[in-house]
Amino acid sequence: MESFSEFNISNPLRNAIDDLGFEKPTPIQSQSFSVIQSGKDMVGIAQTGTGKTFAYMLPILQGLKFSKDLHPRVLIMVPTRELVIQVVDEIEKFSKYMSVRVLGVYGGVNMNRQKEAVAFGTDIIVATPGRLYDLVLSRALQLKSINKLVIDEVDVMLDLGFRFQLNNIFELLPNRRQNIMFSATMTDDVYTLIHDYFQAPETISVAVSGTPLDNIKQYSYAVPNFYTKKNLLENLLQDTETYRKVLVFVSNKKSADLLFSELEDAFTSELAVIHSNKTQNFRIRSIENFNAEETRILITTDIMARGLDLDTISHVINFDTPPYPENYMHRIGRSGRAEQEGTSLLLYTEKEEPLKEAIESLMDYKIPLLEMPDAVEITNQLTYDEKPKIRERNNPLKVEEFGKGFHEKKDKNKKENQGGSYKRTIKKKYKKPKTKGDKFFRGGNKKK
Ligand code: AMP
Repeated sequence: MESFSEFNISNPLRNAIDDLGFEKPTPIQSQSFSVIQSGKDMVGIAQTGTGKTFAYMLPILQGLKFSKDLHPRVLIMVPTRELVIQVVDEIEKFSKYMSVRVLGVYGGVNMNRQKEAVAFGTDIIVATPGRLYDLVLSRALQLKSINKLVIDEVDVMLDLGFRFQLNNIFELLPNRRQNIMFSATMTDDVYTLIHDYFQAPETISVAVSGTPLDNIKQYSYAVPNFYTKKNLLENLLQDTETYRKVLVFVSNKKSADLLFSELEDAFTSELAVIHSNKTQNFRIRSIENFNAEETRILITTDIMARGLDLDTISHVINFDTPPYPENYMHRIGRSGRAEQEGTSLLLYTEKEEPLKEAIESLMDYKIPLLEMPDAVEITNQLTYDEKPKIRERNNPLKVEEFGKGFHEKKDKNKKENQGGSYKRTIKKKYKKPKTKGDKFFRGGNKKK
């Protein structure tokens, strides 16, 4: 779409757009407008910087009629206090010439002032899930008039552990409503949420803008399992000249911690790890060190790789093959920007091969396969998650390990099955549960 005039927007919005100096809609804005206006549920896969806030606000503001009702009609949920402030600020700019009331609420600050503000009435409420739920429980806020729900940065929200609060809020919302969500990455958790609460949503996915795939050399390695992948990584990363600045993607926190502890001895201070169980301060420090090239190798999950200085990354290593092909595009969009050449390596097991093929068909490009260096030891050692499991007959919920049978285990075997040794190693190392610092990051959004 070439211009905003094709949206048939009202004059007050038109004038606000002119003041902001926006000349034409971004791709996510052009594609979302008619879907949101039609009232259908929508899932947008888009990162920050694509103009996603305006993508949902433009059609919502266009359709919002003047009202004196005290109860909000639009609910926008975001994962952090910073985002509440930012979204409220944006909405105020867009609605500059309209008579629209907007209120932001978040945890970590006194609730009484927010209760008073809610009592004045609002059209749009922007909130973190924990504080929103507390306001509803204390009867300061009623959700009965909400007819549009927007959840932004859903992947981050679920990764921070807000699923429980989201479920509670969903139960309190009127059934007749439009659901709109935005997520930078698709994950199983996001998929489940959509499946549970959305009705035949339309999915709109915008690629990372200007991802110059031409600047990225892509290769793959067929590797049998986690520990062989680790051996390969250790071997490659010895070459400090080639592997100058390396971002290693793994699909979850557990693999991130396991890989970190496995590589720690070999790379000591050259290596760092970030994921959502680390405190915000820890993550900021790790990212700063990586940007300043004090750490050479950063292990991260898809969701956490924000705020990184992407231009100078020499290698993106996909330690796991992402189950949603778009995530691969987001990952490798991080190298090879700004004319800089970057390299992406994809490590895949036999089980992950279909996922690799899905990525290749999305890109319409077959990723060249490299041979494993001779020096890399191929091991049969398996992680707990890799070990084959069978379901006990007549009890679909109980998972049994292969070959264990129904007899009592020998003592030495019993030791093996304590829920993944890495947890105990980590616990021993940090001398406290590794999620402790998270409490501070969550601010007032305490887990219920
Ligand atoms: P967001 O992805 O919502 O965080 O937006 C990223 C930035 O793009 C914000 O600073 C917006 O003000 C800006 N922006 C949004 N839409 C447009 C547009 N159509 N043209 C130019 N800038 C835009």
